[in-house]
Amino acid sequence: MKLDTVIAGGRVIDPSTGIDECTDIGILEGKISEIGDLSKREAASYFDATDTLVLPGMIDTHGHIYQHVTGKFGLDPDLVGVHSGVTTVIDQGGPSCMTIGGFRHYLYEKSKTRTLCFISAYLVGGLEGHLYPDLYGPCGVNPEHTIRVAKENLDIVKGVKAHAEIGGQSRWGIEVIRTGKEIAKAVDLPLYIHLGQLWPTKDSAEIPDADELIEKLVPLMDPGDMLAHPFTRHPGGFVNQHGEVHPILLEAVHNNGVRVDVGHGSHFSFDVARRVLDAGVVPFTLGADMHGYNVSVPSEEDDEARKSNPFLGVAPFNLTIAMSELLHLGVDLKSVISMVTENPAKVLKMEDELGSLKLGRKADISLLKMENGRFTLTDNSGGKETCEKLLMPAGCFKDGNFFEANSPLVPEKIVA
Ligand SMILES: [Zn+2]
Repeated sequence: MKLDTVIAGGRVIDPSTGIDECTDIGILEGKISEIGDLSKREAASYFDATDTLVLPGMIDTHGHIYQHVTGKFGLDPDLVGVHSGVTTVIDQGGPSCMTIGGFRHYLYEKSKTRTLCFISAYLVGGLEGHLYPDLYGPCGVNPEHTIRVAKENLDIVKGVKAHAEIGGQSRWGIEVIRTGKEIAKAVDLPLYIHLGQLWPTKDSAEIPDADELIEKLVPLMDPGDMLAHPFTRHPGGFVNQHGEVHPILLEAVHNNGVRVDVGHGSHFSFDVARRVLDAGVVPFTLGADMHGYNVSVPSEEDDEARKSNPFLGVAPFNLTIAMSELLHLGVDLKSVISMVTENPAKVLKMEDELGSLKLGRKADISLLKMENGRFTLTDNSGGKETCEKLLMPAGCFKDGNFFEANSPLVPEKIVA
């Protein structure tokens, strides 16, 4: 039978099946139909994948893509997704029980990218990136409503998002997080917790002890629940006031099945990352956490200006930069690939559909170039390091359709 597409001669790496070899992949009717030498097979189109890594479609576990509804916070889902080589993006806490209908109608049904979400524990969701903290107190949650809506939308709602940070705790204590856990438990979904400073505290005299917050919070978490931002330099994160990883977090991650998501965003510090990795905490997933306040959003008018000034006040990053940073920090390539393929598929409880190149699966396939040379990486403390391997998206197939990696959100490589 004639194939629709042959992806020819790439280095196919899929941790879920153990394959790592140069071979071909055949696509028929949007599914992976064959893997092996397809040089003699007829196909409607050929993609030359020489010198290209061919992976299961990448899943970004932490995006902010509820465009228009969340104001400047939400990015275009396809610029974060398929046009950056990423086939599935999980919006972390953008939609709420009141706005999930818009997420289904405008994103899930219309994006070229597979768009899923962790529903916000708060009634207002991620409007304007949580700009008005007073909306996130005990009056801003309604567990019954959120539980009902989550149960009605289990095809797109894959978890519950809540914020634990010292600014919020100084206002309302741990109660709102407890409510988030109650919602997650009732719907049998993972709870995803943002750790580290987010909001300014109401009154500096009332700033609680960041390390005490961790001690109250972590016992609420069950196996499969997720903690984000391990590499943040902000107080209230994984590292305590003495510069060590909290023993209670080590216990949660190593013995209690709590999962760690990088949640890169503006929370990445090479120094903290080394301390946390050295303590034996390996992230399970690698969310990029891009949003309208931590990337420069190009418009037609400023495109030229952006090209001449790739920083525009922020350290340029995306999912493939986050992968390159972990490689640079010594995590092996297969583990880094697991963090964006098979592991997030397990978080979504969709490991029978996504995150693998098994025959018969949806043809969600990411293509990356591994550039060798000397490149500059910049973290959010302004730290610069030189890496020797840089991963860049080279396109993707989603349900068998090809998308170019032409998103302006893909940072340009900076040669050291
Ligand atoms: Zn975020």
